Amino acid sequence: MLPTKAFAAANAKAPLAPLQIQRRDLRANDVRVDIAFCGVCHSDLHTVRNEWGGGTVYPSVPGHEIVGTVTAVGTAVKGFKAGDVVGVGCMVDSCQDCGACNGGLEQYCERGFTGTYNAPDRKTGENTLGGYSNTIVVDEKFVLRMPKSLDLAGAAPLLCAGITTWSPLKHWGAGPGKKVGIVGLGGLGHMGVKLGAALGAHVVLFTTSPNKREDGLRLGAKEVVVTKDPGAMKTMAGQLDLIIDTVSAAHNLDPEIACLKRDGTLVLVGAPEHPHPSPTIFNIIFGRRSIAGSLIGGIKETQEMLDFCGKHGITSDIEKIPMQKINDAYERMLRSDVKYRFVIDMATL
Ligand code: NAP
Ligand code: ZN
Repeated sequence: MLPTKAFAAANAKAPLAPLQIQRRDLRANDVRVDIAFCGVCHSDLHTVRNEWGGGTVYPSVPGHEIVGTVTAVGTAVKGFKAGDVVGVGCMVDSCQDCGACNGGLEQYCERGFTGTYNAPDRKTGENTLGGYSNTIVVDEKFVLRMPKSLDLAGAAPLLCAGITTWSPLKHWGAGPGKKVGIVGLGGLGHMGVKLGAALGAHVVLFTTSPNKREDGLRLGAKEVVVTKDPGAMKTMAGQLDLIIDTVSAAHNLDPEIACLKRDGTLVLVGAPEHPHPSPTIFNIIFGRRSIAGSLIGGIKETQEMLDFCGKHGITSDIEKIPMQKINDAYERMLRSDVKYRFVIDMATL
């Protein structure tokens, strides 16, 4: 076992604080990674504060936007060697033997994927502990290659915020000739804007924050709608092929649905603590519109997204923080005061 420094929450009300954890000895297919940076996802906050149906196991070490350097590999590892610069996202395992896993969609594993944190390890049953730590040990099938051309800290958020918006953009055909709405300019939303624009779609940003208008345009949106202005929302009625809602809190979906064209789709990726109020059914019936959901992305498509970002020079807009500032960062994230992703510099741990 390898003693590792980490930051953990002891219960739903406790701030994150230092904790020594143990990483397992290498199994044959394992890769050990020295973590350089870890992004801060709103899911980390939902988890440590036990906002998702009481499922959090404590102590909880969050973090699933992990980048770093391989320091050791197990005897059967073929794809990685010491010194490789790699990433680990939201999953560290799955059954690897069902329709979803065989189709490269491990996030929809029919037996349930193993989350990077807060999930029982498939072999030992021990609770997985995430990237707010110095090292992690992961099966090589769940390790990604980071493009050499990208700033490593800025690339960390691609491993969740990037893939979670990339996957629905690709699945629902975002590209030239398509009008795509992104709701919420936070970690996920700003990657949705950048990736949607890079794929050639006409991106419309929907934000509650008037002061994010300029950034929205700079990040690649062609239009910005401040959602608190009902008049502005009405100008978008019936215009969009696809809307990706990244909002972390429950809200009224009707004004967004009214912006969809006939046959348009609203994809929910934001995962708030409380359900959204039920949308008006008539908005869906009239226009044959759909409401869908989407969960992160598979390993193969995560690598494709990373390679695309490497080629197009796409990273996240980040604010680097020391580990000790994590509790402040959570409070700022709740105030939508993130530009646009916090990334923890693990050298400070
Ligand atoms: P974030 O950085 O906090 O961004 C959320 C954004 O939502 C805010 O910046 C704000 O944007 C908007 N917002 C917040 N409260 C709002 C409210 N009451 N009404 C309307 N808009 C509001 O969070 P994130 O890390 O991007 O994560 C977003 C959500 O996605 C979280 O619930 C997270 O758990 C979930 N998530 C889901 C998946 C998945 O696989 N489906 C993966 C990762 C994360 P504006 O200021 O622009 O309005
Ligand atoms: Zn995440």
